[in-house]
Amino acid sequence: MDSDKQKLVEAARCGLKWLEVQAERKSAGQWKHEILRRLCNAVIKSNGDRSSFIAKDICQSETDQNSGSQLNKEFRRFGKILESWAESFNESAIDNEFRVYLTGKLSQPAKHNVLELHVREVDSVATVSKDKIPQGHIRYTVWERKALPRWQQRLLNRDMGVGTHLLLAAIFLLVPIVALIYAVALGFLTYYHPTIWNVSVFVGVICVEFFVLRGLYEFWYFHDRKIMMLPIQLTPLEQPPTALVMRREKDKRWPVVHVMATSSDCLLCDGTVFLRKESHYRYRVIGACNRHPTEHRFTFDYTNMLGKVLAD
Ligand SMILES: [Zn+2]
Repeated sequence: MDSDKQKLVEAARCGLKWLEVQAERKSAGQWKHEILRRLCNAVIKSNGDRSSFIAKDICQSETDQNSGSQLNKEFRRFGKILESWAESFNESAIDNEFRVYLTGKLSQPAKHNVLELHVREVDSVATVSKDKIPQGHIRYTVWERKALPRWQQRLLNRDMGVGTHLLLAAIFLLVPIVALIYAVALGFLTYYHPTIWNVSVFVGVICVEFFVLRGLYEFWYFHDRKIMMLPIQLTPLEQPPTALVMRREKDKRWPVVHVMATSSDCLLCDGTVFLRKESHYRYRVIGACNRHPTEHRFTFDYTNMLGKVLAD
């Protein structure tokens, strides 16, 4: 067995270990976990010979009542979210002393989506292992990111390159102007035809515009601060409070926007620490315990996923 294959097998073992950790966290048993399990087992069984798969390879037709297109659809979605587990895989690999973890890419020759699996070396700077957490610190654990709706994916996980900057510039210019014109026009209409309907529409529109513009305002400063909380409206119910982070990546020219859903066990009690916006410094993101949010508070450093107790 040559070393590339060995590495692939090791990465697959790391994947299975990760699934065990997820099982304790009650997020197991989802279709995407099942696909990962089958992929890892197939890799291990073949001693690392196999690294590319199509949907049919891992979804035996026995009990699958779904049509082929449904399978393909799930497989395609899996291919897209595999990359979003990278941080979580990395942490699991460091804890369990693996040197590599799985990643993959979808390609589309002819009709079927082909998933090419690769290994990636563990990044030991991104987080520390479970038993090396410094005294008085907590380690944040990255939750698997939700597969975001498409329009969000386009904005997130995206290089902050020229295209994104142009898009953002257009949004920052156009939205306030359109909002203003619309509000003024509605204001005139309401003034000259003050029916109950017109007044309620006017008030409703002003409220909506207020929230939209406030969101834009915060996003504007995100560029400076490199971190902000994702508005609660954009966070699915089952996902913990989520931060947006803008960071540099080794092989990329422009900074990349990341979504970070994370939590940690509280150091001071048996509660769980979630991210939140610090209320004094409005834009600071900290961790606060769900049992005692005002006293059990921690810093949040996304560069090494550590937090230390906030004294004040
Ligand atoms: Zn606590």
